[in-house]
Amino acid sequence: MTKISKNDKKLKKIKDKVLNCQKCQLYKTRNYPVIGEGNHQTKIMLVGEAPGANEDRTGRPFCGAAGKILDELLKAANLKREEIYISNILKCRPPQNRNPKEGEIKACSSYLDRQIEIIKPEIICPLGNYSTNYILRKFGLANKIQPIGKIHGKVFTAKNLFGFMKIIPFYHPAAAAYNINMKEVLKKDFRILRKL
Ligand code: URA
Ligand code: SF4
Repeated sequence: MTKISKNDKKLKKIKDKVLNCQKCQLYKTRNYPVIGEGNHQTKIMLVGEAPGANEDRTGRPFCGAAGKILDELLKAANLKREEIYISNILKCRPPQNRNPKEGEIKACSSYLDRQIEIIKPEIICPLGNYSTNYILRKFGLANKIQPIGKIHGKVFTAKNLFGFMKIIPFYHPAAAAYNINMKEVLKKDFRILRKL
């Protein structure tokens, strides 16, 4: 019999809830919610924004164009997907990939909160403005919020119920799809993870 860790069980409960969730309008237009994927005992969590078209079709985070870029960035940091956990603020795709609405983030963020509580990462890397704002505010660093262009790659320390952790905001990988210089900036930022 395979040994299922406590975290696996707890995360499975979230999955079941999200699969049946109707807390905001997005459930009506989604195909599959994207719950999160990766190592349930990891020290590093990446938090994206919301599923895109490919993710909505497969239920897996970052499996489209932004995912290809993310894989390159992880390689630059010497990390494998299996070593980290990847999730999003919104579990269901906003139509036409529009920006998340405040009400949707309010409705959905308890799932991400719970994922963080279970995994207890030492490092959280929010990707892009929306998740950076959410994560900084959540951990009492609302006064540090600035546009991602100003705070990408900075290491913030936050205190939480299970000790201290680091928050390192990055640009969203999708930003590099239209901008080659951006990919180099992102790679440089991701290499910080290698040092830590
Ligand atoms: N963009 C995100 O923010 N998350 C995904 O899972 C895919 C694309
Ligand atoms: Fe529920 Fe989140 Fe999907 Fe809205 S986006 S339906 S809150 S899982």
